[in-house]
Amino acid sequence: MKFDYIPSKIYVDQKAIYDNLKVVRNLHPTKDILAVVKADAYGHGIENVCEPAIKAGAVGFCVAYVDEARMIRKLGYKELILVLGASEVQASKIAQKENISLTAPSLKWLKEALKNLDPASSKKLKVHLALDTGMGRIGVTTLEELKKEIKFIEDNDNLFELEGIFTHFATADEGGNYYNYQKNKFVEMVKDFKDQVKYLHCENSAAGLIESEDDFTNTIRLGIALYGISPFLEKKKVTLNLKPALSLKSQISFIKEVPKGTKISYGATYSAPDDEYIATVSIGYADGWLRRMQGFKVIIDGKFCQNVGRITMDQLMVRVPQKFPIGTEVVLIGEEGKNRITAEEAADFAGTIPYEILTTLSKRVPRIAVNPVN
Ligand SMILES: *Cc1c(COP(=O)(O)O)cnc(C)c1O
Repeated sequence: MKFDYIPSKIYVDQKAIYDNLKVVRNLHPTKDILAVVKADAYGHGIENVCEPAIKAGAVGFCVAYVDEARMIRKLGYKELILVLGASEVQASKIAQKENISLTAPSLKWLKEALKNLDPASSKKLKVHLALDTGMGRIGVTTLEELKKEIKFIEDNDNLFELEGIFTHFATADEGGNYYNYQKNKFVEMVKDFKDQVKYLHCENSAAGLIESEDDFTNTIRLGIALYGISPFLEKKKVTLNLKPALSLKSQISFIKEVPKGTKISYGATYSAPDDEYIATVSIGYADGWLRRMQGFKVIIDGKFCQNVGRITMDQLMVRVPQKFPIGTEVVLIGEEGKNRITAEEAADFAGTIPYEILTTLSKRVPRIAVNPVN
């Protein structure tokens, strides 16, 4: 379904994507960067993000599912695409055909995948071995298992290519002992195999932004920072030159002056404390603006205004200082005049993280690329 008459829009600043990737490249000039574009590029629209990421020097992409990888191939990109999750083994055949790299979560997975590969093909399935050093999600935990996987790939090197080995941190945004424990475990496990793979990676945005250059790995999986959002909690904020790429805007669809005591929205939980203007805005929780955002602010005409009453599926109400015309722009995430609202603030308000705010924005809101890079 195509939405031409929905006033809400997501604008994606492609120059910001480009610049953010460059910020990390400059921190790690010798490392390759894989742009993490899973979940429709963290809600930004995969087709808006791939191009500025490649132009800024990303060598490829990471996604969560083979379908997402195929979407990128359909867009015409020939670069490396790594599926980070444990794919269904049945998908390994199409991955082999379309040159999509898959993550091997276990030896068992490799054995099952082998049965699905096309033995007549001249193409090999590229695999990255996942090591579970403490995230507790996917991958092998011991050196013995890793050795068996490598041996299995060697024994079947007509159909497999060992392209990478990686792990994922549970606490990269906090650093500290557990992070170091995982890092040391990773180094310990792969030190004898490090030269056998093209890509050795463990850094996500947080680790990539804190690690110094003389590092063990050669590749960074860059997610949230690519979109201009700090992976660190507000308290631990390091000074980064990142620029948020996404803004979310809607419009006033209706406006009225209400007398003191007027109730607003489901549950009649809000009662106007005075005579006031109430604007109705065409966005709701079905667009991904969570019910939990009740009481948060928006920007209208450069000024902060407060949402009042419950957020409904497609509309929400805002207390405004004057009778703005229908069609007046409403900023939910982004800036206008001197004021701005970030995805971090929205996340803090809703008791979640910016990743969730962004990836929850629904498909019904059109994504529009702005500020293209040449
Ligand atoms: C999502 C994901 C990333 C990206 O993490 P950010 O914090 O967004 O940089 C990296 N690696 C893996 C395995 C992931 O699942």
